[in-house]
Amino acid sequence: MFDVAIIGCGPVGAFAANLLGKSGASVLVIEQEARPYPLPRAVHLDHEMMRLFQSAGVIDRVAPDMRDTQGHLHVGADHGVIRYMGTVGRARPFSWSNDYFFYQPELEDHLRDALNRFTNVTVQLGVAFEGLEQNGDGVTLRLSGGRVEQARYVIACDGARSAVRKALGVKLDDLDFEEPWLVVDAQVDGPVRFPDLWGVPQDADLQNLSVMMCDPKRPATIVPGRGRHRRWEFMLLPGEDDQAMMAPQAVAALVEPYLSGVPHKVMRAATYRFHGLIAERWRQGGVFLAGDAAHQTPPFFGQGMCHGLRDAANLAWKLDMVLKGKAHDGLLDSYQPERDPHVRAVISAAVGAGRYICMLDPEAAAERDARMREAAKSVQHGTAADLIPAIATGIVAAGTAGAGERFIQPRVGDCLLDDVTGGGWRLFTRAPIDGGDVTMIDVAALDDEGAIAYWLADRKAQAVLVRPDHYVFGTGNPADLIARRDALIAGLARQEVAA
Ligand SMILES: Cc1cc2nc3c(=O)[nH]c(=O)nc-3n(C[C@H](O)[C@H](O)[C@H](O)COP(=O)(O)OP(=O)(O)OC[C@H]3O[C@@H](n4cnc5c(N)ncnc54)[C@H](O)[C@@H]3O)c2cc1C
Repeated sequence: MFDVAIIGCGPVGAFAANLLGKSGASVLVIEQEARPYPLPRAVHLDHEMMRLFQSAGVIDRVAPDMRDTQGHLHVGADHGVIRYMGTVGRARPFSWSNDYFFYQPELEDHLRDALNRFTNVTVQLGVAFEGLEQNGDGVTLRLSGGRVEQARYVIACDGARSAVRKALGVKLDDLDFEEPWLVVDAQVDGPVRFPDLWGVPQDADLQNLSVMMCDPKRPATIVPGRGRHRRWEFMLLPGEDDQAMMAPQAVAALVEPYLSGVPHKVMRAATYRFHGLIAERWRQGGVFLAGDAAHQTPPFFGQGMCHGLRDAANLAWKLDMVLKGKAHDGLLDSYQPERDPHVRAVISAAVGAGRYICMLDPEAAAERDARMREAAKSVQHGTAADLIPAIATGIVAAGTAGAGERFIQPRVGDCLLDDVTGGGWRLFTRAPIDGGDVTMIDVAALDDEGAIAYWLADRKAQAVLVRPDHYVFGTGNPADLIARRDALIAGLARQEVAA
């Protein structure tokens, strides 16, 4: 029997397998296709993902293929800027750039190749999940070719049409947003052309930003990929036919204003329905849903896959503690209460943006432009990273300063903090104590230019306890923090036993 079986080796499944493989668990990965899907869907990820790639030990493989960029710019109907989420000159809390663009098949290749490091990870390609049964001892998987495998836990990372989710009878909560868009990928030899735009901040480089044209005539996004790759997304207007819009002449007409005179080759054009959906249950017995199997996000802030990688990071440390006997199975019940509100908040932000981006009435669009410009006068512009909320319920010391936030990762000398401290539970304090499985880090001895001492002072805290997924458990007195964590984990175990 495997400790964990992962169904689907897309980005989320492959990432989960890397984290669990690194923790020493015996892992089985089942993937129906021999190769990663050859065309990109996701193109953007944020700095938290780079930190998670560090945790999984894959950063050296993936970082060279990442293009760091300057964030997002939204342009109104009159071609004036209405929202700027640029990152130039902004803090880099995790020491990575805030936004990166990448080529999804390359990322998936790297994540799959990295699994060859582990003798405890078995990858079966060309094998499909067909059904499952659960009893108290674990999960029995029925796979194509009449094969049967057993695992103590299963993570379903089998994408939006998840056969596992369907087998469990889990329904999707529809957040009432569905819009048809045409996605065009091209190899481009030269800078993309833009119409004359006004109000573009001086430090903004259009070639290096994701630009959203909120033009009621045809809402569109123009995204810089890595290398020569460029992405366009065009909203389909009412009555337009998917097949007709995917035809080469229609695609050429849509990209022409941006590529007139610029050598390029269109690699693909495909229509998608952008929608907001969340599974009603993320856990059933020993089976967990993660990634697109659990939720789907309109890609206006490029967060769909990022959610999935956060799911995997959240589950991986909890499974590790349970499998090593450091916590009871009830700890795993905190997965959905932590992840669901987090995902819901970001989907709501993306759906909210989608509603104003997809506005097709010129009068409403003009009113929107005026309202957004007025609002922008009183608010200093944020970055897309500001859309990510803190974890409010679950394994956090609610009510303490900073609880549920993502902890900073300053540079420590020539290194990054997590590479110096290692993973796991970490307590940063000036007065280390014996913390059992918690790594004690003396803040005074860290060569981080006082970054963590400043973070603590800012929250008037003696110490901060950080979870293995880099979210802050809480701040306060070291002994109290560890006692509170242990009580919380034991409390969840009691609930599980009572249930
Ligand atoms: C146009 C578009 C743009 C996007 N842009 C972004 C972006 O910029 N940033 C971002 O973060 N996200 C973005 N997303 C979302 C992102 O692509 C997805 O969230 C991500 O690919 C989901 O990863 P996953 O591993 O959960 O699922 P998938 O990538 O769908 O992988 C699922 C895997 O499971 C396998 N599988 C399925 N069924 C079975 C079975 N029965 N047995 C065995 N294996 C099975 C599949 O073959 C596949 O390999 C975008 C999506 C779209 C459509």
